[in-house]
Parts: sequence; structure tokens; C-alpha cells
Amino acid sequence: MRKYIGNRRKRTKKTKKVTYTAAIRDGACFLLTFTVLLITVLSVRTCTRENGATPQPDITLTFNSVYKITVHNHETNTTHVVPLDEYIFHVVAAEMPASYDTEALKAQAVAARTYAFSKSASLFGDNAKQCSPGHFDICTDSSCCQSWKSISQLKERWGKDYNLYAKKVYDAVLSTDGLIITYDNKPINAMYHASSGGRTMNAEDVYGGSPVPYLRSVESPGEESYSGYSDTVKFTHSEAAKLINENFGQRLTKNTVRDSFGVLSTDDNGYVYKVRVGDKRVTGRDIRHAFSLKSSNFTIKMTAKYVIIDVRGYGHGVGMSQSGAAAMAANGSRYDDILTHYYTGIQIKSIGSLL
Ligand SMILES: [Zn+2]
Repeated sequence: MRKYIGNRRKRTKKTKKVTYTAAIRDGACFLLTFTVLLITVLSVRTCTRENGATPQPDITLTFNSVYKITVHNHETNTTHVVPLDEYIFHVVAAEMPASYDTEALKAQAVAARTYAFSKSASLFGDNAKQCSPGHFDICTDSSCCQSWKSISQLKERWGKDYNLYAKKVYDAVLSTDGLIITYDNKPINAMYHASSGGRTMNAEDVYGGSPVPYLRSVESPGEESYSGYSDTVKFTHSEAAKLINENFGQRLTKNTVRDSFGVLSTDDNGYVYKVRVGDKRVTGRDIRHAFSLKSSNFTIKMTAKYVIIDVRGYGHGVGMSQSGAAAMAANGSRYDDILTHYYTGIQIKSIGSLL
């Protein structure tokens, strides 16, 4: 009996052991299956996020600047009073590639803020050069004031990198909060452009008038690594003759343009001063606008079929070169080094010190 019971017990015990083992095995199987499923779900979620189908929540951008500016949005035809740095965020994001080094973005933020300050009547009083006096300080039209992009336009531009780039630009704006560029204790005309082609221009060589002490020609090395450094455009002889006739009142034909169109003088860096068009002498800037060139640093080459124009740099060439700023930042320069390089003899001050 005992033996039987014992055997029974033994058998029962063995059965239980088998049952436990099976349970443990089933449990492990379940756990394994569950783990695999979990990893699969997480992977799919990660992949989906990386592909942009399920975007992360947008970064929160808070602007507490005590200074305000009245901005007219030329696309929506609405006018808003906004914190100065909120406006600057949208300008820096529109005006400079967010992939540029943070110190270049900071230099851009200070230059953009200086420009905005000089336009704001509430900040600069009667000295302000308002875009539309009595109505608003500044507008979002790049052909009038500074470029400006809305959040939805920036999302379209930056795609999956929106949060990364928005944070980078936001930090550049806030870390230079309230700083502007001054000369003789006044805000400067903080002109800037995409690429100088290796050396910036004296303001008077581009716009005429008296020399501006802080807008002097300076070296701008390293630009060739960035986009916009050079460009080549070509026109048929007929197209070139048509543009010249329309813009400069000439009567050139496809047969006469070859001997009637050429550069007469340049500066040492290749910026064109004078160009011959038929019986007229016009400036490099005139040709830049007539032919929609990226800069007035160009050469003209004639072939049997085409007028080929090789262009260096992008923009007017005065003040800070953005790609030059990016090159300086990549080599370890700080934003204030960049600004003092491109704007001769300036000081960086807080808006508060000028009010
Ligand atoms: Zn404007």
C-alpha cells in the first residue's frame, strides 16, 4: 500500500513535474512569442517614425522677448504685433540653411535682429526706417525686407528634420537674445548675402554714394565648399540681344550681339564695374538684373551658338557672407568673431543699452 501509495505519489509527482515542465515550456514559448511581437511592433513604430508617416510631436517654441515688432505678412495680407525674437526665428530659418554651424546661425540672428531694430518705430523711435510708416515696421517680402517663412513652410522645407532644425535655429536666436550690431553707438545697416565669391564688396562700389565705414571689402575664404558659390548660365545670341534691347534701349540682333556685349572693367576679385552693351556703358549690377544673374561677379564668353556667363558668388556681395560665416564657424570661430570680421569696427551691444 505504502509502496503503492509511494509509487502513486511518485507517479503523481512525476506527472506534476511533467505538467510544470510543460507549463514552464509553454510560458517560455508565450514569453518568447510576446517578446518577438513586441520587438516587431516597436521596430515597425520606429521605422514608421523614421519614414515620417507617424511624425513626432512638434517641438514647443516659446518666445518671451520684451521687445515687440509689427510685422506685415505679405502672403496673407495680415499685420501682427509679435515678440521680436519670434520674428527673428522665422527670418533666420528662411534666410540661412539650418544645416550651417550654430555659430553662423547666431551671427545671422544678430544681423537679422539689427536690421529689424532699425525698422521698428517702437524700438528706434523717429530714426526707424519703417517698411510702411504708420502701418507696420517690417514685412515678410524678401524683395522688400528680410525673408520670412511660416511654421508650415518650414515643415515643408525641413521635412523629418523639422524638430532638429527648429531647435537649432531657436537656440541660436535665444542665445543671442536682445543683441544687435552697432557702430558709433547706432545700429548698423547689417547687410548680408549668400556668397561673395571669395571677397566681399565695399558698399559704395555696389551702390555708389559715400563709403560706409563698417561695410568694407574683406576676404571671405572657404565659401567654395557651400552651395551657391558658382553658376553658369547660357543664352542664345537672339535671347541675349532681346534682353539687352529690352533693358537698355538698344537695337542689337543675333548677328551683332557678339561684337557689342562685353565686360570693360572689374575689381581685383572679379566684380564687374562696367559692361559695354551696344553704344551704352552700364554697370555689372544692371547686367545682373537684366540677365537674372546670381551676382555681379561674372565673365562673359561668346561661342558660335551661345553667350555663356560664368557667375561667382550669390547676392550683392556687401556685408556678411553667409557661406563665409559657415566656413568660419566650421573652423571654430564664434558668432562675434564672424560679425567683427564682416562688419569693420563694429560693437555688439544689447538693445537695452541703446534705449
Ligand atoms: Zn518691407
